Amino acid sequence: MTSFSSLPLSPAMLANLQQLGYEAMTPIQATSLPIALQGKDLIAQAKTGSGKTAAFALALLSKLNPRWFAVQTLVLCPTRELADQVTVEIRRLARAEENIKVVTVCGGVPVRGQRASLENGAHIVVGTPGRVMDLLERGYLNLEGLNTLVLDEADRMLDMGFFDDIATVVKQAPKERQTLLFSATYPEGIAKLAQQFMRDPQQITIKAPV
Ligand code: ADP
Ligand code: MG
Repeated sequence: MTSFSSLPLSPAMLANLQQLGYEAMTPIQATSLPIALQGKDLIAQAKTGSGKTAAFALALLSKLNPRWFAVQTLVLCPTRELADQVTVEIRRLARAEENIKVVTVCGGVPVRGQRASLENGAHIVVGTPGRVMDLLERGYLNLEGLNTLVLDEADRMLDMGFFDDIATVVKQAPKERQTLLFSATYPEGIAKLAQQFMRDPQQITIKAPV
């Protein structure tokens, strides 16, 4: 059992984790957080339900400046349901900090409300690749201030044919950034994503107990 207090996290964040009942890090958190908190690129593979969201959320939150009104993190997810789940988890973890705005942008609903939310100021955007690309093309979303890009459930995004949309989005992100890729499996396409969009990523795999 590894405690979160072994990590360079703020006292407020550690207290929040305790309140949430997060007593020990899960194996993927214990392995990936020390690397992710150093700002390094990371490919992390672990099964569903292993706590991957907090593994990237704590890293991006530790870098986030709430007083700077720019999108500093973009999390790409395969579906709206997953984007909603990630948003809920990031908001719970972000409670420790002042006023962090997380905006979810997925297809299937009008662009108008999402545009308004973005105009009101978003620090973190969580969304599906198609809608994120659409909002970028319309000029409603600006990634100039981005410092962290997360590709969550990357294997499923590839299964759903999102490679080209991801590529279009990533090309609009600053080159100086941290890219974190999370996946339950490691199909061929992941290596291609890593090669094109990541910088010397460390790779970790948590094997399911047999
Ligand atoms: P994954 O993305 O790997 O499928 P999630 O990030 O959705 O997994 O986490 C699964 C569940 O475990 C969530 O309900 C989350 O709140 C909870 N969880 C994550 N990390 C911890 C922890 N260290 N201690 C207790 N619960 C945790
Ligand atoms: Mg997940």
